[in-house]
Amino acid sequence: MANFETVEVKTDLLIVGGGFSACGAAVEAAYWAKKNGLKVAIVDKAALDRSGAVAMGLSAINQYVGVKDGDNTLEDYVRYVRQDLMGISREDLVYNIARHVDSSVHLFEKWGLKIWKDEAGKYVHEGRWQLMINGESYKIIIAEAAKNALAEAGGEVYERIFITEPLVENNKVVGAVGFSTREDKFYVFKAKAVICTMGGAVHVFRPRSIGEGFGRSWYPPFNSGSSAYFTLKAGAEMTCQEVRFIPIRFKDGYGPVGAWFLLFKSRAISAGGGEYMTVRKDELQNWAPYGLAKPIPANLRNYLGMLDLDAGFGPLYMETSEAINKIADQYKEDPKAFKKKMKELESEAWEDFLDMTISQAILWASMNVKPEEKHSEIAACEPYFIGSHSGASGAWVSGPEDMDTPYKWGYANMTTVEGLFAAGDASGASSHKFSSGSHAEGRITGKAAIKYIVEKGADPAVDMAKVEELKAKILAPLDLFAAHCNETTEPEVNTNYIMPRQFMFRLQKIMDEYAGGVTAAFKTSKFNLERAMELFVFLKEDSDKLAARNLHELTRAWENVHRMWQGEAHVRTMLFREETRWPGYYFRADTPKMDEANWHCFANCKVDPATGEWEMMKRDVWNIPGV
Ligand SMILES: Cc1cc2nc3c(=O)[nH]c(=O)nc-3n(C[C@H](O)[C@H](O)[C@H](O)COP(=O)(O)OP(=O)(O)OC[C@H]3O[C@@H](n4cnc5c(N)ncnc54)[C@H](O)[C@@H]3O)c2cc1C
Repeated sequence: MANFETVEVKTDLLIVGGGFSACGAAVEAAYWAKKNGLKVAIVDKAALDRSGAVAMGLSAINQYVGVKDGDNTLEDYVRYVRQDLMGISREDLVYNIARHVDSSVHLFEKWGLKIWKDEAGKYVHEGRWQLMINGESYKIIIAEAAKNALAEAGGEVYERIFITEPLVENNKVVGAVGFSTREDKFYVFKAKAVICTMGGAVHVFRPRSIGEGFGRSWYPPFNSGSSAYFTLKAGAEMTCQEVRFIPIRFKDGYGPVGAWFLLFKSRAISAGGGEYMTVRKDELQNWAPYGLAKPIPANLRNYLGMLDLDAGFGPLYMETSEAINKIADQYKEDPKAFKKKMKELESEAWEDFLDMTISQAILWASMNVKPEEKHSEIAACEPYFIGSHSGASGAWVSGPEDMDTPYKWGYANMTTVEGLFAAGDASGASSHKFSSGSHAEGRITGKAAIKYIVEKGADPAVDMAKVEELKAKILAPLDLFAAHCNETTEPEVNTNYIMPRQFMFRLQKIMDEYAGGVTAAFKTSKFNLERAMELFVFLKEDSDKLAARNLHELTRAWENVHRMWQGEAHVRTMLFREETRWPGYYFRADTPKMDEANWHCFANCKVDPATGEWEMMKRDVWNIPGV
C-alpha cells in the first residue's frame, strides 16, 4: 500500500466542506461550543477563502426576505418556493431558513460586504428577493468571519483535505476519513457529530464545453457530488434526487442572466419564434396550477424556450440592446444625461460578469460584443445538482424543533443517520436558499449539532480495523497504477486499470445520452433509464480499477466515484417518478404529463450500508396550514 502517514484528529463537532453553509455552521457552532467547552473542526478540500460555488464572487445576494422593513412575509417566501418547485418542497425547512436569512445578510454587511444602497439608504434590489452587492470578495469576507469565530473558540481549520468516506457505527456517524491533496497523509477525523456541507455536483453530465473549452461549466468544478456520496454511504435517506437544475445562461461563457432579466427587464427571444414566453403562453395551461401562477417556475420558462428550439426556431437570444436602450430612452431629451446613463448601464452589464463569471466578459470582449448594440446568445446549460439554488436534491433532514411539522425525528437538519447533519446543497427539498440562505441554514445546523452533542454526544467509537481497510481502499488507485504502469508504452492505456479522466467521460456519456443531457435535448424515458442502469453495473465494477499517478489524480479518481453515486441516485429516482413534473429540467417522454393524483409527493431513496441495496419510497408533501 502507498506509504501515507495516518493523522488522527479528535473533535466534538466536525464540519465537512468549507463553503457558505459550512461558514455559517462554523460561526454559530463556535459560539455555542465555546459556551459548552466543546471543540469544532472544519475540513475543506480547498482553501476556505476561495472554495465552493462562491469562489469567484457573486453579484447579488439572492435570498433576502426584508421582514424588518415589511417588504415581504415568511409565508410569501414559502409560497414562492412551493410555486417554483412545482409543489414539491419541504415548507418547514424553507420557513425556518427564511426566518433566519435576513440576519445572515445583516452579519455579512457588518463583516464588510458592500451591499448597494439607494439615495434613501435602502438596499438596492435586483428583484423581489435579491440584493445587489459588490461581491468579488464575498467568499473571503464570509470565510474570514468563520475562521475568526473558530479561532476565538479554540476550533481548528483543515484545508486541502479531500473527505472521502463517512465513518458510521450502528446508524450513528462517528467521523470521516480523507487524504491531503498536497502531502502523503491520510486523515481520520473522530467526532461526536458531523455536519455535511460539501456542495452539489457538476460534470456528472457531459458539459456543452468539450474539447478546448473542457472544464467550463456554470457550476464550479470544485464540487463533485461529495455531499450526496457521503450521506448516501452513511445510509441517510435522500430526497428530490431527480430534481436537477438547468440554468439558461449566456452561451459558452455561462455568464449570469439575473441582472438582465430582473434589473434591466430584458426579453428573451428565439431567432425564428419571437418572445417565447408570450407566444407559447398557452402551453402553461398544461402545467396548472403552477404554470398559471406567478412567478412562472424556472423549469417552465426553460421549457418554453426549448419548445422553440425543437420547432427549429433557435438559437435563443437575450435582447440586451433593446433593454439598455429602453432604460436610457427615459433620458433622451437631455443628450448629456442620456450619454451618462448609457455609460452607467454598460458598466453595470460588464460588472455583473466581472463580479462572478469573468470568462463571460472575456468571451464577449473576444467576440466584439457590445451589449448596447446587439443581442447575445443564451442557452440551457447541462444539468447540475444544486439543492440550494433551483434544484432540490439532498438529504432528507429533520424539521425545526419548534414547528409542528410532520417531518421531525430529533434535531433540526439532522439526517436519518444519528449525529449526521446536512445543510446547503447537502440538504434537500428546500431550494432557493442560495448563498445567504445556505449560510443561515448552516447557522441553524451548527446550533442544532452542538445541542445534540451536549444532550446526547457520546465519545466516537471508531473501529480502527475498518479504518485501515478504508485507507487501503482509498489509496488503491495509486497502488494499481504503480503495479502496472510499466506494462504498456502509453501508461494511460492499460487493461489493468482506467484513468480518472476516461472514467469521467464514460459516466458523462451514460448520463448525457440516456439520462436526458444536452445531446438528448433533456429528454429521457423508462427504457433509456433502464439502459443507463445496465451500463452503470459495468461502470461501478470498473470504479474498483481506477488508477492514479499522484495525489492530484487520486482526488480526481474519488471525485468521479462520488459523481457516479450522485448519477445513480438521479437515474433511479427519475425512473421511480412515473410522470413529467419539471419539463425544462427533464422530460420523461414515456410519461409526458404531470400526475398530481399519484405523484404530488417526494420521491426518496436510500442505500442499505450493509447490503448496498437501494430502496425507493414516496413521502407526503405537507403544506403549512393557511399558507
Ligand atoms: C454559478 C453560480 C452562481 C450563483 N449565483 C448566486 C447569486 O448570484 N446569489 C446567491 O445568493 N447565490 C448564488 N449561488 C448559490 C450559492 O453559491 C450556493 O447556494 C451556496 O454556495 C451553497 O453553499 P454550500 O455550502 O452548500 O456549497 P458551497 O458554497 O459550494 O461549498 C461547498 C464546499 O465543499 C467543499 N468540498 C467539496 N467536496 C469536498 C470534499 N470531498 N472534501 C472536503 N470538502 C469538499 C468545497 O471545497 C466547498 O468549500 C450561485 C451558485 C452558482 C453555482
